[in-house]
Parts: sequence; structure tokens; C-alpha cells
Amino acid sequence: MKFSFHMPVRIVAGPHCVIENGALLKELGKKGFIMSGKSAAMNGSLNDMIMTLDAAGIPWVHFAGVKPNPSLQDVREAAEEARASGADFIVALGGGSPIDAAKAVAVLAAGSVTDQELLSRRRFDRVLPLAAVPTTAGTGSEVTPYSILTNDSLQTKSFLNSEQVYPRVAFLDGRYTRDLPPGTTAATVVDALSHAAEGYLAVRATPPARILALESLRIIGRALPVLVSGGALSADMRDELLYASMLAGIVIAQSGTTAVHALGYSLTYFKGLDHGLANGLLLAEYFRFLKKDRPEEIAAILGALGLTDIAMLDRTLGDLLGRITLTPVEIDRFAAIAIKAGNILNTRPQPSEEELKILLGNCFAR
Ligand code: NAP
Ligand code: FE
Repeated sequence: MKFSFHMPVRIVAGPHCVIENGALLKELGKKGFIMSGKSAAMNGSLNDMIMTLDAAGIPWVHFAGVKPNPSLQDVREAAEEARASGADFIVALGGGSPIDAAKAVAVLAAGSVTDQELLSRRRFDRVLPLAAVPTTAGTGSEVTPYSILTNDSLQTKSFLNSEQVYPRVAFLDGRYTRDLPPGTTAATVVDALSHAAEGYLAVRATPPARILALESLRIIGRALPVLVSGGALSADMRDELLYASMLAGIVIAQSGTTAVHALGYSLTYFKGLDHGLANGLLLAEYFRFLKKDRPEEIAAILGALGLTDIAMLDRTLGDLLGRITLTPVEIDRFAAIAIKAGNILNTRPQPSEEELKILLGNCFAR
């Protein structure tokens, strides 16, 4: 058995974990730059963070302008504000968008780095420390070294991937996720499902990450029937889903994502689909593509989810997420973009561009 496993994020979880752990923020620096979108002011996370920083005597500035799917341009603008504020650490409150934006700002506010360097270098001279408070149960970005940024010059999403942008600390308080609207809940849960499944199947999968993936899938599988029936998730289930999405984040931090994410980026960039929704619409067909070569592993994933076969996964995700259609021109274009993505190399068997077209056609041309 040969593998390496590194997870440098301190994770504290439970109700009121931000307020009870102000000392951890004191370790990060002397002035905080809080980054969020609009919902942080409503879901309780902003209030708790401000109270905690105030109680610890740490001055802060709040940047509330993070948009979903932040672009390279967006993070550069935010980094200018961070630099001007004189903050020496960053706090991200939100879903993957604010957390990923904060990772890029942690690099850009601390040094002079071009877009090309941001997306290709693994080490930077200086990076500001970061604390992350997830308010969606989906991306697991609070425990990954990735920041996924909209790259208009390539018309897709590109990665910053550096161990230096792992948050120093992640605060998991499921109370912040309780009022997530049903559509965002479904899309984000399916993103976590996708991380666990893709990470389990990835070329770079490791034995400990696979164990975490199965546990994450078991938790998500328990929530799926409630989500599909349109029922409300209990507070306990919200807590568990936040835990499951964190586990799935640890999985992709080790294993990376695969063809599903590579293809999903075009659905978000060109069709405006939520990230998790884009992945979810591709998953069943991806399993069909792999099943001939890897039947036991697909069966293990479906079993953990409490599903009997791929058709049942297809129906479940279809009921939860709906369906879209693509034109033949879109299918060719999205396959041509995805085949260039690094996560294609992390897919086994590795699909050709022609096979990506067939996969997209099976999903969306019906
Ligand atoms: P998101 O884009 O962060 O948020 C989606 C929407 O939900 C936003 O309108 C957001 O509002 C709202 N929202 C967030 N928390 C809420 C709450 N508690 N209550 C009510 N509304 C809430 O969605 P996401 O799916 O979490 O993140 C997607 C991004 O993460 C994509 O850019 C994707 O590529 C990236 N991603 C990153 C990784 C990684 O490892 N770094 C992995 C997978 C995906 P506000 O933002 O205005 O508050
Ligand atoms: Fe994702």
C-alpha cells in the first residue's frame, strides 16, 4: 500500500463553535478582512464572527461583495480592498464562492502575483492566513487547497491549487445552513455527493480518502429521500450534511475531482447552472461509462447511497434536479473544452473527446 495523506486544517464543529473559539482567530493575526456574499448577514454567521472578533479585541473590515462563481477579475478587486484595509488575515463566510474567493485574496493581497502565476504556481512568497466558515453543505472548500475561479479568457473555471491556501481553521456550525433554500440545498448536497464519488473513483484515490468517501455517501444517502420528497431537513440532518460535505472535501483534497467536474464547468460557464446541479446531471452517465471496467466500485458507491442501481440514481437525481437539453454544437464545444482539463487525467478509464461527446449526448440530447 502506497499513499500520502495530508490534512492541515484545524476543524472545530458544533453549535456556537465560532463564539467559543475566538482564541483560534487571535492566532491568525491582528486585523481581519471578512469576506462574504449577501446571505451571511441573514444566516447568523456574520453576527457570530463580528461578536467573536470584537470580544477578542481584533479589529475587522467587512467585504460583502463576493458573487457566486467569482472570477479572476473579482478576486483582484477584492484583494485591492484587503490590501488597502491593512488586514493581515482573512475570514471567509459562505459557500464555496466566498471561501474560494478568500483563498485567492489571501495570495493576491500578500504579494505581486499575475493571473498566470496564481493558477500555475504551487508556492508563493507570502499568503495571508485564512479562517473559513461554510454556510452551505456542498463544496468542502473549508478543507481543500483549491480555489476555483471563473476564467473568462479560457471560458471555463480554472484552479488555484496550493497547500498554502488551506484554511488554518474551519468552523462548522450547521445552524448557519438551516435556512438554505431548497434549490441551493439540493445543488450543494449533490456537489458533495459528486466529490465523494469522484474522489473514490479517481486515479489519485487513496485508501483513507476512500473510507471517508463512503461515510460521506452514507450520510448523503440518508438525506436524499427527504430532499426528493420535498420535505424539510431536520436540524440534525443539516449538521450531518455539513459533516458529510467536509468529509467529501477532505476526499477531493487528497484525490482531486474527475471528468464530472471537468464537464460541469461548461454547464456553469455557458448555461448558468449551479455548480452542484451541473455535476449531478452528469453523474449517472459517468457511472455508466465506468461500470464496464469498475463494477464493484460503482456498486460500493450506490450501496453506500442506499440505491440499488444506476437507473435509480438517475431517477433520484432527475427528480431532485430536473433536466436540461443541449444542442449538438454545445455538446461538441463542451467536450472540446473539458478534454483539456487536468481532471480528465484523473479519470480511469480516461475518456477520449469522442467519449465525452457521447456521455454529454446521453445526458442532454434526449
Ligand atoms: P455559493 O456560490 O457559495 O452560494 C450559492 C448561493 O447560496 C449564493 O447565492 C449564496 O449567497 C447562497 N447562500 C450561501 N449560504 C447560504 C445560507 N446559509 N443561507 C441562504 N443562502 C445561502 O455556492 P456553493 O455551491 O457553496 O459554492 C460553489 C462554488 O464553489 C463554485 O464556484 C464552485 O466551483 C466552487 N467549488 C469549490 C471547491 C473547492 O474545493 N474549493 C469544490 C467544489 C466547488 P451569498 O454568497 O450571497 O451569501
Ligand atoms: Fe465541486
